Amino acid sequence: MRKAVFIYSKELEKYRYPPEHPFNTIRAQKVREIVNKLGLLSGNGRREVPPEPATRVELKKFHTARYLHALKTASERRHGLPAREDTAKMAVPQALSMGIGTPDCPIFAGMYEYSVLAAGGTLVGAKLILTNEADVAFNPSGGLHHAGPEQASGFCYINDVALGCTVLAEQGKRVLYLDVDVHHGDGVAYAFYDRCDVMTISFHENPRVLFPGTGFTNEIGEGKGKGYCVNVPLPIGTYDEAYMKAFETIALPLIGSFKPDVFVLQSGTDALAGDPLAHLHLTNNVYAEVINHLLSFQKPILMVGGGGYNIENTVRAWALAWSVLCGANTDSPAIKNVFLDSTDRQGGLRDRTLVITDQQQNAVMPTVEATIDAIKLKVFPIHGL
Ligand SMILES: [Zn+2]
Repeated sequence: MRKAVFIYSKELEKYRYPPEHPFNTIRAQKVREIVNKLGLLSGNGRREVPPEPATRVELKKFHTARYLHALKTASERRHGLPAREDTAKMAVPQALSMGIGTPDCPIFAGMYEYSVLAAGGTLVGAKLILTNEADVAFNPSGGLHHAGPEQASGFCYINDVALGCTVLAEQGKRVLYLDVDVHHGDGVAYAFYDRCDVMTISFHENPRVLFPGTGFTNEIGEGKGKGYCVNVPLPIGTYDEAYMKAFETIALPLIGSFKPDVFVLQSGTDALAGDPLAHLHLTNNVYAEVINHLLSFQKPILMVGGGGYNIENTVRAWALAWSVLCGANTDSPAIKNVFLDSTDRQGGLRDRTLVITDQQQNAVMPTVEATIDAIKLKVFPIHGL
């Protein structure tokens, strides 16, 4: 029996990004509702645990004091101001230079409290894994992989994932960070760029066409960390079969040679077909398959959320991901027939298989194969592969 912890509390529902912002915190609440309805929050080793706000000492393991101060001050100033007040106008230049108060990272009421609580959820998961109280944990409110030590970026203020990996590595764990968000997991990759105890593997859409513009195959780490940062950029239109080919030929051998003690999985779902901010063509079956692969290594998994801007598709994918992670039978009638208000289908967590045209195949597969070859050439020899 797998000890599975779902990290959530109603406290998170107090906070929202501005209504016009694509990042919607309601996703975690909706996932929680579905998995609760399915009976997947208790019994068989499963339980729900609330997040605790990350402490200042914890936050400073990645972020600078100057940045935390600016973030907190901006958040406090926001309270009591009318909602329509232009956040750029009230951002002090120093905060703005750290990305706080930009259109991507607007200042909103409770911004600091929310970010610290969401990050604390990931840390709760890491601690429960370290004390063997959890084999797998999922914080759907985490996964804010773009934040830098002194930079808010790409909807992210506090980098819970870099913090989670740090806490695990501090205890001597070899951490395999896998990032399947459609955007490069830059904040986490660069946090461990010169380290060989945390390997980061990021699958994402071609950085030439998508934020943050980094994550090319030649970014492989430096110093002791050379070969421990792996980037798999994928062309527009990448579909399940092409994605899994890249995953199985790149990630699996590297995981096998790295021999991690623990996995941290950033499970952003903006790589799904129909995401309004990106251009990959995956179904959520990829997420289930990736998790099944990780489970086969029989090491703890700390899963966090991330991007995902088609809300219903994201909710369904994360509910499916949790079902797989916590060991539910995903072919059971209860999970197959759960009623969802989905854009794609009603009845079941799994997406339908998408039809792939010859034209799409010809446009995608050769590029993916060239990427695989490039990574094999640059990274594999460092690991004796
Ligand atoms: Zn993303």
